[in-house]
Amino acid sequence: MLSVVPTPVTVRAPSKVNLHLAVGDLREDGYHELRTVFQALSLSDEVSVVPADALSVQVRGADAALVPADSTNLAWRAAELVAARAGREPAVAIMIDKGIPVAGGMAGGSADAAATLVALDALWHLGLGRDELDELAAELGSDVPFCLHGGIAIGTGRGEHLVPVLSRHTFHWVLALAKDGLSTPVVFRELDRLRAEGNPRRVDGTDELLHALAGGDPHVLAPLLGNDLQAAALSLNPALRRTLRAGVEAGALAGIVSGSGPTCAFLCADEDAAVTVSAELAGAGVCRTVRVASGPVHGARVVGASTP
Ligand code: ATP
Repeated sequence: MLSVVPTPVTVRAPSKVNLHLAVGDLREDGYHELRTVFQALSLSDEVSVVPADALSVQVRGADAALVPADSTNLAWRAAELVAARAGREPAVAIMIDKGIPVAGGMAGGSADAAATLVALDALWHLGLGRDELDELAAELGSDVPFCLHGGIAIGTGRGEHLVPVLSRHTFHWVLALAKDGLSTPVVFRELDRLRAEGNPRRVDGTDELLHALAGGDPHVLAPLLGNDLQAAALSLNPALRRTLRAGVEAGALAGIVSGSGPTCAFLCADEDAAVTVSAELAGAGVCRTVRVASGPVHGARVVGASTP
């Protein structure tokens, strides 16, 4: 008898870099009030879902061993959340192809959660609207709504309240991936400690940065990039200073720590410059590996069927 092999639904979801990240003081609920400008980057994860007897997660890719394949995986939690909303069992096998560094400050787990929401909406023909997907995404984590939307957006609150920023220009980046990850809560705690001790400089407003994004000239944008978490990430991992210096010496227009780090993101003049900077940086021995990326790109989207 012929058995029908179900076709998986595959969704690609982007990573993010924070072009601007202003961290306010600690709120009573333990979170910090943020104002950030996200840009979605082409470095991405792919998540495939296929009907199965029970919920499972498998992870492939260079960093797979660092990612939990159990109920603590954000994709697993996303599957349980959508299933509960749909009133059905989360009976799916989830395959994650990781391209985004783990614990790298690039929202890898959030990308997988956003991708799982979109994949299961398609697999189960739920027809969830944007508002419903947004609501589920915000329940899963602060960066998940942005991974769903992509593009460029201003994020406030914990980063989950988004206002899209229109930009017709593509920017070119080199990403220096570090050997070890940094835990986001630990980096926030280190910033609180640094602020209790002294007064590390805070980033300015976003008006000029938003103008620069509209203009599309990376030379204008470069000096406006800023991240309040950078001082904390550098305090926890001082070797990142050398990485940031090496990227600029290699020809990047500017380098910043991405989000909570330790990935360093270098803005380059154009695609050719990014290739040159990535080659130099790879040879400088200041990071685990180097990737070229561009942005903005779309949020989590179905890319079709794939081999599980
Ligand atoms: P962010 O930039 O949103 O603060 P990050 O990119 O620094 O996050 P992640 O890659 O999302 O960090 O991973 C943080 C931790 O979350 C990992 O160390 C891992 O234990 C756990 N985790 C849970 N689900 C996933 C997933 N699908 N992919 C990666 N890590 C996951």
